[in-house]
Amino acid sequence: MSFTNSLVKMRGCSMAKVSLESSVNVVAVHDIDLEKALRRLDIYQKLISGTMNCMICEETVNMENLGALMRVNGKVKVICDRPACFSAAMKMSKALKE
Ligand SMILES: [Zn+2]
Repeated sequence: MSFTNSLVKMRGCSMAKVSLESSVNVVAVHDIDLEKALRRLDIYQKLISGTMNCMICEETVNMENLGALMRVNGKVKVICDRPACFSAAMKMSKALKE
């Protein structure tokens, strides 16, 4: 079984910096590039229409509360901007790597 994980941090967050691990691919994305990146991942429309949910707390995630993106088994999951959800996602990402 192989997992491909990448976590894309959308907005500056000190928590993200302290929890950065070399095994996790975290890419800072400027807001101006955000829409482009989301379109490329084919989730922009889903975010706009409110059909994406946080992988951790299952809260509806839209452009306002988008915290991070994570690729799990080739599928893009979104994480809301709660620090607790982000750190849970980081842990999950590490666990999937192992
Ligand atoms: Zn959440």
